[in-house]
Amino acid sequence: MNTHTLPQSVGSLIAGKDVTGSGHRIPVYYPATGAQISTLHEADAAEVDLAVAAARRSFDTTDWPRWSVERRQALLLAISETLLAHADELALLECYNLGISLRELRQIQMTRAAYNFRFFAEYLGQRSGEVYDQVTGYRSVVVREAVGVAALIAPWNAPTALASMKVAAALAFGNTCVLKPSEQTPLALRRFVELLHEAGLPEGVVNLVNGRGSVTGEALVAHRGVDLVSFTGGTETGRRIMTGAAQRLKPCSLELGGKSANVIFASADLDRALDAALLAIFSGNGQQCLAGSRILLEKSISEAFLARFVDRARQLRIGDPMLDSTEMGPLGSAAHRDRVLSYVKVAQEDGATLLTGGGVPQMAGDLAGGYFIEPTAVLAPSNAARVCQEEIFGPFATFLTFEGYDQAMQMANDTEFGLVSYVWSDHLPTVEAASRDLRSGVVWVNTPMTRDLRAPFGGYKNSGVGREGGAACEAFYTEVKTVTIPD
Ligand code: NAD
Repeated sequence: MNTHTLPQSVGSLIAGKDVTGSGHRIPVYYPATGAQISTLHEADAAEVDLAVAAARRSFDTTDWPRWSVERRQALLLAISETLLAHADELALLECYNLGISLRELRQIQMTRAAYNFRFFAEYLGQRSGEVYDQVTGYRSVVVREAVGVAALIAPWNAPTALASMKVAAALAFGNTCVLKPSEQTPLALRRFVELLHEAGLPEGVVNLVNGRGSVTGEALVAHRGVDLVSFTGGTETGRRIMTGAAQRLKPCSLELGGKSANVIFASADLDRALDAALLAIFSGNGQQCLAGSRILLEKSISEAFLARFVDRARQLRIGDPMLDSTEMGPLGSAAHRDRVLSYVKVAQEDGATLLTGGGVPQMAGDLAGGYFIEPTAVLAPSNAARVCQEEIFGPFATFLTFEGYDQAMQMANDTEFGLVSYVWSDHLPTVEAASRDLRSGVVWVNTPMTRDLRAPFGGYKNSGVGREGGAACEAFYTEVKTVTIPD
């Protein structure tokens, strides 16, 4: 596949059919070169209405919500296999749209997308029910049923990996869906929905609409035919979505932004902590909600650690995301690159020291038009600096130093966010105390970014409302009914 064989236009996919009704067009770019590679046909409110109607029909008039567990498991496994068989194709589409290393997309994100469906197939086989025998001669059986039509709204930074979790969970429990990717990254998710159908998903169960949040997204959230909203994206957008959904009392799951602390004590295995710190801020080109973007170093080790971090950051191979040797590609868009770079000035105005990066690297040939920036690190004078409080969402590490456990915890928790935290120490009482004291939905102790899908994932404070994961998804995507019958 080269840019000439990419889909030249991407519209909606409603009940399995292409729909490109609205007149508004949005260019889609390859971030590594800045070249336009496709055009998005935006869905307006009328097109959203068609998509919701298709999902509604599939929910209300077909047997989809009542499929047996065995039949649903077989479909989820078939989808998983199909996605794995097309992992290279999906990774390439995502790479053209996102600029993240093709190797990382193929090995991690597409494997995860396929696994999400396998996970829920297995989860369905392990569910147990609740039955309450009453002394009065009655028995109450608790039944979980699909909620209905789910609006699934995804961000641009990991489109297929994140949206597939929502789709797999919604389908596992018998819901139908309307999926809206980010207007910036429609390519791989368009193919993903086609592949669901190739694997045997009935048409109309998953429908796709594309367009801006202010048009397509708002029409979807406000639609009276939508029963629940699952959203991953920025905190401000999450507020708007929750406000919109509240008008019709729709349940919302919000996976939002982060400014996660990576707390490294002198008692840590510093080689492992260094590798993990680099991974946590530079993988995905730094555009990850769970990035370890605020690195807190115990003062006694800070000088040596910073020197090693800077040395390694400077060695990162920036370049063509299609090459296996590339470790960091471009940022997702020109506007986002400019926003991330603007934080270099913000940091300096707040008295921070630029340790490395902060500029645009010289790229050769086609890549000269790409949205690259150098891996960047600053040392902030205090946690009040804007670079310690605001989500930058790029390859931009902010360091702070602390003295003693109490100051580390105070700094780590002094943020409006609470998505994840990382803590590094080989002193057991320290990590035990930190895993209790850190105010975030996930605490990674001496391990970077590992995730068990059975465990809930989501944020405290402004990082979210609700959780994703096995039982957490079951709770969100099902209604609970108590049936009481005589013994
Ligand atoms: P965004 O909030 O700008 O957009 C996310 C999605 O919402 C897009 O599809 C967009 O079109 C849509 N949208 C925007 N306004 C809307 C509205 N008013 N109504 C309905 N839909 C609307 O976020 P982004 O820039 O695409 O993604 C980056 C953000 O996502 C970061 O803050 C990051 O931390 C967060 N994120 C969180 C997680 C998590 O699991 N917590 C995972 C990935 C990304």
